[in-house]
Amino acid sequence: MIQRIDTGRTYHAYSRRDLDRIPMLRRLPPELRFRMKAVAAVLPFRVNDYVLEELIDWDRVPDDPIFRLTFPHPEMLAPEDLARMIRLLEEEAPPAVIRSAALEIQQRLNPHPSGQREHNRLVLDGVTLPGMQRKYRETALFFPAAGQTCHAYCTYCFRWAQFVGVPDLRFAAREADMLVRFLLRHPEITDVLITGGDPLIMRTRLLRRYVEPLLDPRLAHVRNIRIGTKALSWWPYRFLTDPDAGDLLRLFAEVVRAGRHLALMVHFTHPRELSTLPARRAVRAVRGTGAVIRSQSPVVRHVNDRPRIWARMWRRQVSLGVVPYYMFVARDTGAQQYFRVPLAEAFSIFTGAYRSVSGLARTARGPVLSALPGKILVDGIERIGDETVFVLKFLQAREPAWVGRVFFARYDPEAAWFDDLRPAFGEPSFFFEGELRELLRR
Ligand SMILES: *Cc1c(COP(=O)(O)O)cnc(C)c1O
Ligand code: SF4
Repeated sequence: MIQRIDTGRTYHAYSRRDLDRIPMLRRLPPELRFRMKAVAAVLPFRVNDYVLEELIDWDRVPDDPIFRLTFPHPEMLAPEDLARMIRLLEEEAPPAVIRSAALEIQQRLNPHPSGQREHNRLVLDGVTLPGMQRKYRETALFFPAAGQTCHAYCTYCFRWAQFVGVPDLRFAAREADMLVRFLLRHPEITDVLITGGDPLIMRTRLLRRYVEPLLDPRLAHVRNIRIGTKALSWWPYRFLTDPDAGDLLRLFAEVVRAGRHLALMVHFTHPRELSTLPARRAVRAVRGTGAVIRSQSPVVRHVNDRPRIWARMWRRQVSLGVVPYYMFVARDTGAQQYFRVPLAEAFSIFTGAYRSVSGLARTARGPVLSALPGKILVDGIERIGDETVFVLKFLQAREPAWVGRVFFARYDPEAAWFDDLRPAFGEPSFFFEGELRELLRR
């Protein structure tokens, strides 16, 4: 019997310091490359050979969507910030000076949006649990310390602001232990979402330390284990040919065999990410374990700001057995000015795509703002009486009683985030605002 041995690729990443070593970039004017370096000193940058060779169409650069998504562009910074970083690089300022200028700019780019850090803390016996958050009653978020980086970075992300070093296995065991102790006391938690960064950046051996304890029969109330990842897009070899790929798939199968639902919450920004052979094979391998793949992404300018791109992406997902889940609105953080799509336009992109696919792809919901009070769906733009309004609906909320409630905001073609919205019909505030203030004060 002949066994086909596919050695795949070995993972090799490029960061800001390696911009000059990326052969494909040499076709760009040196002056532009220099400006890209200035931006990369402030915003996240990392790609790998797979992204460079299989995802980016270099004949279409700079307008190629994956290039827009992964490489820094001068327009991502305000002109004065860009000029300042360029000046520092030209002067060959010491690294510490560059770092502190970058930090100062980052602080102004709202690195911790929607009160993620202050308001979603978990406490056990009076101690705040590191790496854990909870905003909605049924779901605990877990950020394993070793999973806070990614196989490549999306330039619209600002989570790298919390990226940290790589701790050892002993630390992982302690973290997992605290998670389990917390869950034992909270039978109302049905979902654990392991997230990052990208938790699948971790070796399987480490990931197992977090996942296996959740299968304890005492934690039978934890029905759903979700893993948030972009590895199917940025590094599908994680499921195919990495040395511990087989072990990862076995771990997924073990979770399913233990009677839990394993959901891979994947992030696909553009249909091209699903078009390569390794990506398709990886989807098949994951589905073969019994795990379900659900996909979500923000709608962003320069990358996926057209209905037919979303329709193509959803159709491709359905044919591969991936379930479309959320279309998000890009958060008010990082390079949002560059990527932002007003809510009205996001609504028309969503609706245009939704109308052109069959019901099987209409499991997608959006556009959704993941904001301080909850996940808010822009469900319509309608004329009611003599006022044009956004019809909004809570899909998730800090207060469970708000879920499913519909409310109205004054129509504003420029509004791009929750803070831009004002109550319709001359109301002084949205129905939940008083209660929200109370909840946050606790
Ligand atoms: C989106 C989100 C969840 C999961 O919400 P679902 O609608 O159940 O997918 C959980 N926690 C936080 C903080 C979230 O933003
Ligand atoms: S994969 Fe997710 S966490 Fe990683 S850079 Fe992209 S958006 Fe950020």
